[in-house]
Amino acid sequence: LLQLSVPLNFIGFVYREIRQGLTDIEQMFDLLEVEAEVVDHPDARPLDIHQGAIAFRDVHFSYDPERPILKGISFDVPAGKTVAIVGPSGAGKSTISRLLYRFYDVQKGAITIDGQDIREVTQKSLRAAIGMVPQDTVLFNDTIAYNIRYGRPSATEEEVHAAAEVAQIGSFIESLPHGYETMVGERGLKLSGGEKQRVAIARTILKAPPILILDEATSALDTTTEHEIQAALDVVSKNRTTLVIAHRLSTVINADEIIVLRDGGIAERGTHADLLAQDGLYASMWNRQREATQAEEHLRKVRESD
Ligand code: ATP
Repeated sequence: LLQLSVPLNFIGFVYREIRQGLTDIEQMFDLLEVEAEVVDHPDARPLDIHQGAIAFRDVHFSYDPERPILKGISFDVPAGKTVAIVGPSGAGKSTISRLLYRFYDVQKGAITIDGQDIREVTQKSLRAAIGMVPQDTVLFNDTIAYNIRYGRPSATEEEVHAAAEVAQIGSFIESLPHGYETMVGERGLKLSGGEKQRVAIARTILKAPPILILDEATSALDTTTEHEIQAALDVVSKNRTTLVIAHRLSTVINADEIIVLRDGGIAERGTHADLLAQDGLYASMWNRQREATQAEEHLRKVRESD
């Protein structure tokens, strides 16, 4: 399988991955399969990034021709601003982030960054410009320090520690007997979803990309963890063009614009206040979620007082 179509620049990557053991090799195959979906245009140039303004223009996409997922989506993420995508489960929110990272190509329409169609730039330069904090971060079977430094391998120890501080995970790491040298992953310390996400945030802080994609965890985090992660994300997204894929709504209140997806189209758009005033889909999702959160908090208090 490896011999089939692995591009040369993958060899270093493959070597590092093999070092990580079997679990990561499986992930690597997943990655390679994804890689195979798109190829660089023969005249592809490096992305020339000025401000990092993103535009989706009449974007159509389906995984399976029988079932369109996005049916003509247009929106902008102006340089330095934050746009959040919300909508019912399965609406295509994460698909938007995969298209921007170019795991797949759009079937009609275009996605541009600073006016350049992302199909016409090298994938390497595109991905170097984008920091992705995914829903479920997969950590390498290595130390915490290695996992954070992966964002910028040349980073010094001080820089790794500073990034961890900003990501609100520094004091947790220091409390471990082996600190930054603690082994994590399959064969090491198992980190919680929220801890893994903060490691991913620290990694992204080191990478310091002009564009950020935050694909929020679907799983419910407790309120304290959620606030800590939100504080960390606010720091990273400041002055960076940020696309938030929000599976919960609590994190989108401060977005410059919220796009509500439904049935492959944009059902509503505006700020949190605009959308509440419209009293439509967003408002009903918001009210439902607030009730659910209150019920959860109530349950937790009851359990704690037992
Ligand atoms: P959620 O909030 O539940 O994560 P979402 O809005 O992010 O949902 P997507 O992950 O974008 O939804 O998926 C949109 C639709 O596309 C879903 O119906 C899903 O089943 C389908 N889909 C996603 N990935 C693939 C794939 N690789 N192949 C085929 N269909 C897919």
